[in-house]
Amino acid sequence: MDIKDIKKIVRDEITESIFQLQDFLLVGNWKMNKTKQEIIDFLNVIVNHDFGEKNSIIVIPSSPYLYLFEEKLRYSKIQYGVQNFYPKDEGAFGCKYAIVGHSERRNIFFECDAFTSKKIKACIENKIIPILCIGEHLEQRKNGEYKKILVDQIREDLSKVSGDELSTVIIAYEPIWAIGTGETASPEQVEETHIFLRNFLIEEYGNEIGNNIPLLYGGSVKPSNIKELALAQSVSGFLIGGASLDAQALIEMSNILDGK
Ligand code: PEP
Repeated sequence: MDIKDIKKIVRDEITESIFQLQDFLLVGNWKMNKTKQEIIDFLNVIVNHDFGEKNSIIVIPSSPYLYLFEEKLRYSKIQYGVQNFYPKDEGAFGCKYAIVGHSERRNIFFECDAFTSKKIKACIENKIIPILCIGEHLEQRKNGEYKKILVDQIREDLSKVSGDELSTVIIAYEPIWAIGTGETASPEQVEETHIFLRNFLIEEYGNEIGNNIPLLYGGSVKPSNIKELALAQSVSGFLIGGASLDAQALIEMSNILDGK
């Protein structure tokens, strides 16, 4: 047998065991996509699908349609959340997750880290799990500044959160140049950045908390690339835009992560 074949078998075995052991978090960020009927059709497909016990699926639709999720998913293990909110206590959110600091909020609506940190705090005070998005621009990746950018974002965005509260935060690394562009970061870039972020979290917040904060990757993830990205170390799941709009693609991605 050729060494290449042996390497492939060993790699396949490692891959198998990673997928058997690890639970992944799959978050679908829908932005302003889908009409009411399209959402009903989507929910009818996923509500009857058995996603198994391992992976967690969260869908983030546009807020006017959250009530459809409440109605249809009441007895389902699929969860849902919001894309945005104002950081005040009044008014029930009615769901468990909120995306905070998405690059489109930062770049189009000029939400700064100071405001993002208020939103994170408001989430925690209202028992909502924030999915904090961080990421660098292409020039910052190219000139090597990206690590500082990511660390600065985490430090400032989580500055109002302390101790145990940190265990309810999810972080999504989303390089801005890879969002909605079809350009994915390579598995090597994802792994290098996630290991860097994991080490930073451990140094900053201690072993217990630093190791347990889920670190998602987001940026043009789809069925054809999710497997190799999932093999990158320290990837706990994915924040997925475009590909999460298609129920079959979402099912396919969950199956791939389940090792099916
Ligand atoms: C996003 O919008 O957060 C995102 C990751 O989008 P896409 O998967 O389409 O790049």
